[in-house]
Amino acid sequence: MDNCIFCKIIEGSIPSKKVYEDDRVFAFHDIQPQAPVHILIIPKKHFASLNDAGEDDWDTIGYIHKAAKQIAKEQGVAESGYRIVNNCGPDSGQIVFHLHMHLLAGEKLAGLGR
Ligand code: 5GP
Ligand code: ZN
Repeated sequence: MDNCIFCKIIEGSIPSKKVYEDDRVFAFHDIQPQAPVHILIIPKKHFASLNDAGEDDWDTIGYIHKAAKQIAKEQGVAESGYRIVNNCGPDSGQIVFHLHMHLLAGEKLAGLGR
């Protein structure tokens, strides 16, 4: 996708601090970390959000979670724990419209308001 910053990060025309890459997913440190570990995991195939996932994309969305588990292990937070967040649409605060999962860890994370 021409004007997508995350597609540009995948192709390398925008630099990022990469932590993981394979044929399906790419993962890199968030530029404005909200926790000691804040990594974004994205599919190499562009689609905007969960609302835009096609039938062929659900496997990849599952696979992103497998990658998250592996990355958490490599970052040393698998046992202390981590949170995976996906923002979808205006009320969620989604600002980049290339599907991504936030992997947050490295401290006791705030509750979800309950
Ligand atoms: P969203 O609110 O869309 O779920 O989150 C998008 C995330 O992408 C934000 O946490 C933001 O800090 C991060 N981000 C936006 N632009 C860039 C960038 O150019 N590089 C990196 N590494 N992260 C970015
Ligand atoms: Zn994209």
